[in-house]
Amino acid sequence: MAEIELQNLSKSFEDKSVIDSLNLTVNDGELVALLGPSGCGKTTTLNIIAGLLEADNGDLLFDNQSVLDMPTKERGAVLVFQNYLLFPHMSVGQNIAFGLKMRGIDKKTRKQRVSELLELVGLTAYADYSPNDLSGGQKQRVALARALAINPQVLLLDEPFSNLDANLREDMQNFIRNLHLEEEMTTIFVTHDRDEAMLMADQIAVMNQGKIEQYGKAKELYTKPKTRFVSDFFGKANYLKLELEDNNFIFNGVSILISEKDKLALKLRSGKSIVAMIRPEFIELESMEIERNEETLEFSGSVVEEHFVGDKIYYQVDIGSEILEVTELPQKSFEVGEEVKVIIALENIWFMEGEG
Ligand code: ATP
Repeated sequence: MAEIELQNLSKSFEDKSVIDSLNLTVNDGELVALLGPSGCGKTTTLNIIAGLLEADNGDLLFDNQSVLDMPTKERGAVLVFQNYLLFPHMSVGQNIAFGLKMRGIDKKTRKQRVSELLELVGLTAYADYSPNDLSGGQKQRVALARALAINPQVLLLDEPFSNLDANLREDMQNFIRNLHLEEEMTTIFVTHDRDEAMLMADQIAVMNQGKIEQYGKAKELYTKPKTRFVSDFFGKANYLKLELEDNNFIFNGVSILISEKDKLALKLRSGKSIVAMIRPEFIELESMEIERNEETLEFSGSVVEEHFVGDKIYYQVDIGSEILEVTELPQKSFEVGEEVKVIIALENIWFMEGEG
């Protein structure tokens, strides 16, 4: 197993900066997602960790030791490619045994290990098949077994599920999650799919234009995004522009108390604009007769749009100064034009720099 540390890593292709002073620490045995839009540098980062690409600057440490001058084979890292890259002229068994053969492992040990791995990935009956005769999910499991054959310390996966249909994708996500729980090897996978990253990863590194915007657990990224990019990447939100008056925020005529800690965190004296970020499902709608509570903000509003999608209803509610997006449970049904109370628990408001 290994702890991986990226220190100020940079990489350009023909003067175009692709990775820009990237820092990241992946703890021993963690399952981490590199998440971001197309072209943000995820694959480049993974290839540098694997040793397939050289960084221009910075350092890469495995267990506190620089591995930049170490060939892939010696790093103990394996990369499973998006399109599997199986050898078509070899059987499934031979594909899995390939790395062991290259390392001079004797035939008897190879056979034993291949049979263990075939069992692990549930393909014992397919040892003599050609990869061409396998489904996408089966091919991927062969590629995984081949990668695992050499007992890697670090498993790197590039968009491992993108070629699979929805059902198979879910099976393979569970498979890799369980495999990771059993083998506990440090695993980094690249994805542009937010739900996949949230479902699978212990920690998520959100990348944007060659930098890591935020690194953390799914809930933290969703509820406490540090930047507008991270907030938008994780889903819809209302961004309410706040006025600062006597050290309190005022929105829509209502004063919002903000703790000293939050004020410090936001460096309020810098004069930057602050918005309150509120996810639509953290807003409640009620009919008009409800008592005001100290822990909540309340506004009167009227429903201007309603979209029923089965397990939830999307509303747009006009509160005078803004139209809020609200997601409610399907049993809480309101008509367009209906007057409602909009209730926001203070604990569900997240303050961040930015424009409304
Ligand atoms: P995707 O999800 O689309 O695969 P990504 O986040 O993995 O994107 P990278 O593949 O790392 O992004 O590519 C980042 C940028 O670097 C892209 O603009 C890409 O065109 C460029 N790039 C990658 N490899 C090379 C190369 N060998 N030569 C020149 N430019 C490259």
